[in-house]
Amino acid sequence: MIGKVMRAARMHEKGKPLDIDEIDIPQIRPTEVLVRVRACGMVPNLQNVLDKWDEMAPDLPLPKMPAIFGLDVAGEVVRTGERVRDFKPGDRVYVNPLRVCGSCSACRNGHTLNCERMILNGYFGIKPESATLFEDYPYGGYAEYLPAPQESLVRIPENLDFPVAARLGYLGTAYRALKRGNAGPGKTVMINGITGTLGLGAVALSLALGVRQILGTARDESLFERVAQLAEPGRIQILKSGEEPADEWSQRVTGGRGVDIAVDALSPGAPPEPMKEAVKTLNRGGCLVNIGMVSQEVPLDVFWMMSNNISHIGSSWFSTEQGQEMADLVESGALDLSFFDNQAFPLEQINEAVGNTKNRSGGFTNIVITP
Ligand SMILES: [Zn+2]
Repeated sequence: MIGKVMRAARMHEKGKPLDIDEIDIPQIRPTEVLVRVRACGMVPNLQNVLDKWDEMAPDLPLPKMPAIFGLDVAGEVVRTGERVRDFKPGDRVYVNPLRVCGSCSACRNGHTLNCERMILNGYFGIKPESATLFEDYPYGGYAEYLPAPQESLVRIPENLDFPVAARLGYLGTAYRALKRGNAGPGKTVMINGITGTLGLGAVALSLALGVRQILGTARDESLFERVAQLAEPGRIQILKSGEEPADEWSQRVTGGRGVDIAVDALSPGAPPEPMKEAVKTLNRGGCLVNIGMVSQEVPLDVFWMMSNNISHIGSSWFSTEQGQEMADLVESGALDLSFFDNQAFPLEQINEAVGNTKNRSGGFTNIVITP
C-alpha cells in the first residue's frame, strides 16, 4: 500500500545542508512508472554541485529549488502508467537518469545522447536550454519514490543488488567509452586514472569484454595491488603517474604489442600531460576516448595522429540499451562487481554521506543512500 506522502532530501539554499521534507508522492504520466527507491548513488562531485555550482558551471542549469538531487536510482516498480507495456509492479530496475526532449533534431534522428536539452536527472543539465527539462522532471533519487519514463528503465537481475546497481551510471560511462573504442578479445586497453571511480569501472568492464591486457596509470600507489588482483597475475599493469613516459612503458609491458584503446578517466584538476602521453601509447588505428575531467587544452601531435589513423573521442554518458547490456553481463556472470565496498546511508544521514565522499578508497568505495 502506497501512502500519499514521502520523505525527500531537498536543498532550499545553496551551501546549506539538505533538509528532509515530507512532500506528495509524485504523479506519473501514462508512459512512466513509479519506482520505490532502494538505493541512489552518491557521486563524489555532489558536494561541489551543492556548494559552488555557480562558480564551476554558471551556464548549466540545476534542478529548481527546493531541489531534489540524486542521479543513479535502483529500486522496484510500484505503479505503472496505462501506456507502460513491459513493466509491472515488483520489477527490479535501474533508472537511467538521461532525460531528453524528444523533439530536437538529434532526438528525432535517434541520437538521444546528443539531445540539445539533455539533462542528467537529479544532477545537472548540459546546456542552458536544458532548464526546460527540469520543469518536466523535477524529482531526483534522494527520496522514497521517483517517477521514471519507461524508456529509461534497465531490468536488473536477481544477482545484482540495489546498491551495486546504483553504480551503473559510472559503469555505463566507462562501458560506452570501451564500446566506442571497439574493446574486445585480443585488444589492449590503457586507462588513465585506473584506481578511480570511472577507471575501476573500465577495468571491470574490460575484463568482462575479454580484453587481453589492461594497462593503467594512477597517482595513489596504495591501491595498485588491489586493482591488479582483479585479474590473473600480469594481465593488469599499473604505472605510477609521471614515473616514466607512458609510451615507452607500455611498449615494454606489452612486449611491443602496444595499446589499441586508451580511456582517459582522470579527475577534475588533472594536468593535460597524461592524456597527451596516453595518445602516444596508441598503435596505428588506435583511439583515445575521453570520459575524464581534464579541463585544460591538450597539445596533440595531430599530424602524427592523422598519419596513423589515431582518433580522439569525447564520450558523455550512455544509452539505456547499454545499461541493459551491463545488467545482462552481470546476470551471465561475465561482469563481476563484487569488489565494491558498499556504504549505505539512510536518507536522514544524507549530509554525512555527502561529506563522506572525501574518505573513499578510490573507485572501490560505493556510497549510496537507501531512502
Ligand atoms: Zn532532444
